[in-house]
Formats: sequence, structure tokens, C-alpha cells
Amino acid sequence: MTIQWFPGHMAKARRQVTEKLKLVDIVIELVDARIPLSSRNPMVDEIVQQKPRLVLLNKADMADPEMTKKWIEYFKEKGFTALAVNAQGGTGLQEIVKSSKIILSAKFERMKAKGMNPRAIRAMIVGIPNVGKSTIINRLAKKNIAKTGNTPGVTKAQQWIKVGKELELLDTPGILWPKFEDQEIGYKLALTGAIKDTILNLQDISVYGLRFLEKHYPERLKNRYNMDEIPEEIVDLFDIIGKQRGCLMAGGEINYDKTSELIIRDIRDERLGKLTFDLPENLSKYDRD
Ligand code: GDP
Repeated sequence: MTIQWFPGHMAKARRQVTEKLKLVDIVIELVDARIPLSSRNPMVDEIVQQKPRLVLLNKADMADPEMTKKWIEYFKEKGFTALAVNAQGGTGLQEIVKSSKIILSAKFERMKAKGMNPRAIRAMIVGIPNVGKSTIINRLAKKNIAKTGNTPGVTKAQQWIKVGKELELLDTPGILWPKFEDQEIGYKLALTGAIKDTILNLQDISVYGLRFLEKHYPERLKNRYNMDEIPEEIVDLFDIIGKQRGCLMAGGEINYDKTSELIIRDIRDERLGKLTFDLPENLSKYDRD
């Protein structure tokens, strides 16, 4: 899904999330495990405010597992519980209820002490486009439908999905915008497929990807494109890849656009392995605290 965000859309999105916040006990913030900061909405803390939150690092199946561990630690240090999940494959999802219960235990204890009837935890999912919100909702919903069957006649507007007995999830997620002002974040969003019809230049994205691989995963870069050494000049690197993969123009010249597309596709399709583009080393750059 590609959404064109304008100030009006952002204000509306924010308003919608703020309205729904009143209905829930906890916010489940979905981020992409490959870019746990670049895939966050820049105003999410301000929007969600003090509402308890569970952070899900989704698409963990595509991220570097060592980095995912570090990111979970990072969120923990910030006071958030974070879980690595794969909404598509269904792994890690059973932890959502468990963690939500722990996060909300004090609140529910207080409710119990006041003599209120026990009830399920109410939650909503928020995140930027393409982070996996619908996938996770469908996954969790299917589990429920299998158990309870469909409920006909329920209006579409504000439907709750029962996830077991202990959690109820709003069926529509809160869609928030990414941080596009930062070009580096734009490249990362493009490389992970969050921005599909890209507004950024293909060659610039692939150059960013190659430079990143050269710095952080040089062996994988060499293995993928059969190189003993990575050439110093980026154009030489393009030449090697383009020639090897037949990205040529009529006269035999390298077709750089085609080569760029191929590199981006290779990265998105995990041909260079599981990658994490946001690195805890350069956290200070993106830290908003
Ligand atoms: P939304 O815009 O946040 O609702 O995102 P979607 O649920 O539509 O997911 C965007 C894309 O990511 C889809 O192609 C999904 O199949 C894919 N996707 C979602 N979750 C995962 C995951 O955990 N792992 C992988 N590999 N792909 C996922």
C-alpha cells in the first residue's frame, strides 16, 4: 500500500488513533525488525502518551537475529517490552497475550480490588504502512474464528477480535506515517519494501544498500556477486554486478538502472541473507530522547 501523506492526512490519522486510544488498555506498536527505528512514526510517543505499550518487531524472520536481540534490549532500556514476531509465519504471536497481561497486571489488580468484574484486555495495533498490521490482525483473527465462528451482523466500524479469552483486538489498525524528512530513513524504507512505488532514485537506493553491505556485511556482498575483493569505486562495483547478471544495454554498456533494480530486489528478497539496517551503534543519531 502506498499512501501519499499530506499534513491533512497526518492530522486525520493522528485524530483517529487518539480516538481509538480511549477504547483500549494497551497499544501494540508494530515496527519492522530490520529497521526498528526507521519504521517508527516520529510522533508515536507523543500520540500514544502514557498508554501502556507493547512493541512488536515484526518480520523478524528477515532480520539479523543478533541485531534483533540487541534491539529488544534497547527497547527494554527505554522501558518498553518488545517481542520479535513473524506475523506471516505466526511465530511469537502467542507471547502477545502473555506480555500484555504482565504489562497490565497492576491495572487489572486495581480493578479487581475495586470489585470490578474481570474482563479481557483491549488492545489496538498501530504502525506505519506495510509493517504487517493487517497480516497480524488476520492471523490473530483466524485463530479466533476457528474457535468461535463468524458473528454476522456486526457493524464493520468498531469490531473487536477475540484472541483467546484474555485479549480483544480492534479489527482496524491505526495507520501512522513514517519519518520521511531524513533521506537515510527513506533509503532504508525503500530497501525493506515499505515504500514500494518509490519516490527516491533507484540508483541512490542501491548505492546506499551496497555501501551498507560493504561496511556491515562485506562477506555476504562478496559471496553473492562472486568477488574476491570489493572495488573501491562504487561504479566498478556496479560494473561487476551488472556484467555478471547481464544488465546490459544494446551496445554492451552496463544498464545502471537495471542493475540498481536487481540489487534492490536481491536485498528485499533476502538474497544477501537476513539484514538489519538500523544498527544499535548509530542509535544516537536517531534517538529522540
Ligand atoms: P500493513 O500495511 O501494515 O497492514 O502491512 P501488511 O499486513 O499488508 O503487510 C505488508 C507485507 O508484509 C505483506 O506482503 C505481508 O505478507 C508481509 N509481511 C507481514 N508480516 C510479515 C512477517 O512477519 N514476515 C514476512 N516475511 N513478511 C511479512
